[in-house]
Amino acid sequence: MTTTLITNIGSLVTNDETRGDGPLGLIEAAAVVLDGEEIAWTGPAATAPAADTAHDAGGRAAIPGFVDSHSHLVFAGDRTREFNARMSGRSYTAGGIRTTVAATRAASDEELSANVARYLAEALRQGTTTFETKSGYGLTVEDEARALRIAREHTDEVTFLGAHIVSPDYAEDPAAYVALVTGEMLDACAPYARWVDVFCEKGAFDGDQARAILTAGRAKGLTPRVHANQLSYGPGVQLAVELDAASADHCTHLTDSDVDALAQGDTVATLLPGAEFSTRAEWPDARRLLDAGATVALSSDCNPGSSFTSSLPFCIALAVRDMGMTPDEAIRAATAGGARALRRDDVGRIVPGARADLVLLDAPSHVHLAYRPGVPLVTDVWQRGARVVGGGPAV
Ligand SMILES: [Zn+2]
Repeated sequence: MTTTLITNIGSLVTNDETRGDGPLGLIEAAAVVLDGEEIAWTGPAATAPAADTAHDAGGRAAIPGFVDSHSHLVFAGDRTREFNARMSGRSYTAGGIRTTVAATRAASDEELSANVARYLAEALRQGTTTFETKSGYGLTVEDEARALRIAREHTDEVTFLGAHIVSPDYAEDPAAYVALVTGEMLDACAPYARWVDVFCEKGAFDGDQARAILTAGRAKGLTPRVHANQLSYGPGVQLAVELDAASADHCTHLTDSDVDALAQGDTVATLLPGAEFSTRAEWPDARRLLDAGATVALSSDCNPGSSFTSSLPFCIALAVRDMGMTPDEAIRAATAGGARALRRDDVGRIVPGARADLVLLDAPSHVHLAYRPGVPLVTDVWQRGARVVGGGPAV
């Protein structure tokens, strides 16, 4: 096994408060040693052990690789016209998903897999080293299972979202579609998935339908996560907490009792500001959730309809500017927060034993991710110990 010393790090976010300052566990003038796919050591550069190879970070800031716990990457087609129309005055409705469903059904396996790979490479260049992705643009037994099989070629964090919208094929009989999702479709999809999700929203699935879908998934060994309270107030968040879902995602319209439930349960509130940005919608109130004691994650929601960004640096900038998060809170939410939303402790932190996923920024501090919005600050990315982004060989 080859060890690599990354030294002369200007400031290092470990996300372990026992190792450095504040909740981010910040260490100035730091170093990290990678051993194969894991982190072997982290601390002040002056006390770093020797390693087989060394990389000089040149005073750059280092952060854990981003953990994007919510994306929809198995799709085909393009919705530029819909976005253009919306930005020219029309409001967003859930129905636009049907456009992507038709294009996805018509695409070959190779096209869909190439699309996933393309957006993953794009995300990696922006520092994302762990990501979750979902089905939800097939909405037949075969097309949902195919989407999950393709997703599984790219990540272990695969979510069955047959309940994205009621399939257009069942528009007159939503109950029959719920029966399909909880029966034959679930049977075909469960072997490829770790999670089960539902879009609990007016025009999609109500509380009773969502409960039926999540409990059926749980009986097949899948852990729930919920698209909850995005477009309106509703039962999604309470249901997510009651069923011990890993995450309630969006959380834009919350009552005080929704906030209390998130603060008291283990369900992470995953905020997706790319969606509010791309639909000119009201921002989720991250400050309210954090002040109540909820765990918050930030994710991209990357999808062709309502949030076509794969950039967590962009989401961090939005969260700081418009959602009341401090830069420290936003960086933590996009790394350790995302890891919590996937119930993982091997990613999102730079500590011995964690996966060797690390990002260097062309900046002296992680704060620049919000301070310099839109600027491509990521210069180097290590994923599972391999330098997958960055010019020049290690010396
Ligand atoms: Zn989503």
